[in-house]
Amino acid sequence: MPELPEVETVVRQLRPKISGQRIKKVIIIDRKLGSASRYSTITNKKIRTVARRGKYIIIRLNDDVRLIIHLRMTGQLLWQGNSAQADKYTRVILRLSPRAYLLLNDLRRFATFTITKTPLNLGIEPLTAAFNSKHLGNILAGSKRAIKDFLLDQKKIAGIGNIYASEILFAGRIHPRRISSSLKPAEMLKLTAETKRILKLAIKHQGTTISDFADTNKKKGNFQRLIKVYDKEGQPCPCCRTEIRKIKQQGRSTYFCPHCQH
Ligand SMILES: [Zn+2]
Repeated sequence: MPELPEVETVVRQLRPKISGQRIKKVIIIDRKLGSASRYSTITNKKIRTVARRGKYIIIRLNDDVRLIIHLRMTGQLLWQGNSAQADKYTRVILRLSPRAYLLLNDLRRFATFTITKTPLNLGIEPLTAAFNSKHLGNILAGSKRAIKDFLLDQKKIAGIGNIYASEILFAGRIHPRRISSSLKPAEMLKLTAETKRILKLAIKHQGTTISDFADTNKKKGNFQRLIKVYDKEGQPCPCCRTEIRKIKQQGRSTYFCPHCQH
């Protein structure tokens, strides 16, 4: 699933290409998204800018209308300059003016495409200055949940998913099953610093492609080469050579080094 770095990659590519353009036509191919008339309100609206919040892509239109896209498992937002090259996975086509097309492709059809005026109710953005060890201490206080589950809670911290949660905890040397409120100040300091470092590094490498992620030009990310533990069960830890273990937390896989993480 695309997480903060993958969504940020998409947003940074789209922003200069579509800001200032007008949505001339919304072509809904997948009826699961509702009828075209539902989207008639955005026709002829101008795109003011493109932003990211957590794992959401927010296309801001005039009159304070937002087109909010969540790529979920396999969604891809593709930009095409001359003509729309739809395929069997294309679910929506936006025809823009001056001539360009924005396509939402999605193999598994979980991606969402909604029009709203309501801002998203999400937790803190981890790349902002406000996300520091003091803030982390405040939101972790009293929490009996495992720290891995806490990191995935979008209402607490927005944008971290399964891949980066494992990587951040490995870098922070914190065991994924640690009770959130048991983290010491030095660990919170390390955790916030590693969260920022890893997410920024992943953005620099255009995100991670384990299975489906592609950017707006259908290119894969490059951060998978730098991954230390995610999806590496049985392989040696890059620090101590102990075998990396896989456990399930809330039904999702977590990867960690039992020697390095406490
Ligand atoms: Zn290790």
